[in-house]
Amino acid sequence: MTQSDQRIDIVIAGGGFAGLSLAIALRQGLGPSTAIMVADPTLGKGHDGDERASAIVAAARRLFETSGVWQSAADEAQPILDMVVTDSRVEDAVRPVFLTFAGDVEPGEPFAHMIENRFLLDALEKKAHEVGIGLRATAVKDFVAPSAHAMEPGGDGAAIRVGLADGGTISARLLVAADGAGSSIRERAGIAVHGWEYGQSAIVTTVSHERDHEGRAVEHFLPAGPFAILPLKGRRSSIVWTETTKEAERIIALPDDAFHAELEQRFKLHLGDISAVGARRAHPLGFFVARSFIAERIALVGDAAHLIHPIAGQGLNMGMRDIAALAEVIVDAARLGLDIGGAEVLERYQRWRRFDTMTMGVMTDGLNRLFSNRSAVLRLARDVGLGLVDRVPNLKQLFIREAAGLVGDVPKLLRGKSL
Ligand SMILES: Cc1cc2nc3c(=O)[nH]c(=O)nc-3n(C[C@H](O)[C@H](O)[C@H](O)COP(=O)(O)OP(=O)(O)OC[C@H]3O[C@@H](n4cnc5c(N)ncnc54)[C@H](O)[C@@H]3O)c2cc1C
Repeated sequence: MTQSDQRIDIVIAGGGFAGLSLAIALRQGLGPSTAIMVADPTLGKGHDGDERASAIVAAARRLFETSGVWQSAADEAQPILDMVVTDSRVEDAVRPVFLTFAGDVEPGEPFAHMIENRFLLDALEKKAHEVGIGLRATAVKDFVAPSAHAMEPGGDGAAIRVGLADGGTISARLLVAADGAGSSIRERAGIAVHGWEYGQSAIVTTVSHERDHEGRAVEHFLPAGPFAILPLKGRRSSIVWTETTKEAERIIALPDDAFHAELEQRFKLHLGDISAVGARRAHPLGFFVARSFIAERIALVGDAAHLIHPIAGQGLNMGMRDIAALAEVIVDAARLGLDIGGAEVLERYQRWRRFDTMTMGVMTDGLNRLFSNRSAVLRLARDVGLGLVDRVPNLKQLFIREAAGLVGDVPKLLRGKSL
């Protein structure tokens, strides 16, 4: 550390869902004497450019509620009251239903809500500001691990030195990489990933319709990939429509009337006439899990640690599991007087999250492979499987609890308990 370094306890690179949620949880768990900073060049610029909406499962909603974030976004959130899964071809006039889910995880608590990303991100940024997080609109440019500078004059073996794009340097006990799937911190730390591209992209847009969706989410498994209709507040739905990347690019570039025809062919007219009301964008899809979630005084969270197919709407929710686990191990360590960025604490976080992440990653990858194809044999196998799940109520209840993030070693914040 040099004399010009600013001293902070925790620097979080990335002010998306993962970074802001972690900052708030840590601040609330550790109190104002711990200095926390979030650095992200997009801070303070609003989130209107994000056309996506997310399914927030019950466990993640509990975390947002516990930290007081949900309360200012709740008016914009649409509960998912039931879910219908079909397996068909684009040209089929009728899409037979193979699986339905309905019901609460606890009485009065839906298993998920849909909310547009911009509302939740705005609420997170507002809360982070309110609780006194240092929000700095700049990127983390580089860092020097303690082992590399400990022997220099003024070096500190218990601090990582973080360089910012605005010229600042910070000395911190812990650097959290919440800088998304293309994480430059992960790369700089030399952490490789296991994964692959799918050659698929998700077209995302918002549709308004004549009739009420009644809180129903619909997932049509079409040969090119899932076509999801996810209910938003009002007579609107968010569409997540998977195609091969080439086909997605073609569809996105179509004139409005031709785009509408493609959309209607898949959506059908069960909610009356539809019209696309939002921007349309294609997101290339891939899968990876980082080989390690930690390095010297560094922890990876959210998409920086793992990227999954949106088929089950679980990417952000997995990130919230990272946040809840990391915040819990750090707060526990601080209460015991341990070093919050020390190897022991980070190992505990990694043990908690990496196996669970692998399981969810493999499951969503398998789902995508099982459904995104034209094989008649696989179609029969999956339809028999879905039909069986549909007929066994206890199995369905387990699926609902699993999808809601309430199965396994669930961290406190996801159970709605404060740290
Ligand atoms: C089409 C689609 C639909 C989806 N639907 C769902 C869903 O329904 N439910 C669900 O749970 N998940 C869903 N997901 C996944 C979800 O959107 C992501 O998992 C989530 O946004 C990841 O949040 P994050 O904070 O980890 O990363 P990001 O949202 O990528 O945020 C990273 C932040 O880091 C910043 N940054 C980058 N580099 C630096 C740097 N060097 N220094 C500082 N800051 C930096 C960026 O500006 C950005 O703000 C979906 C994904 C897609 C593509």
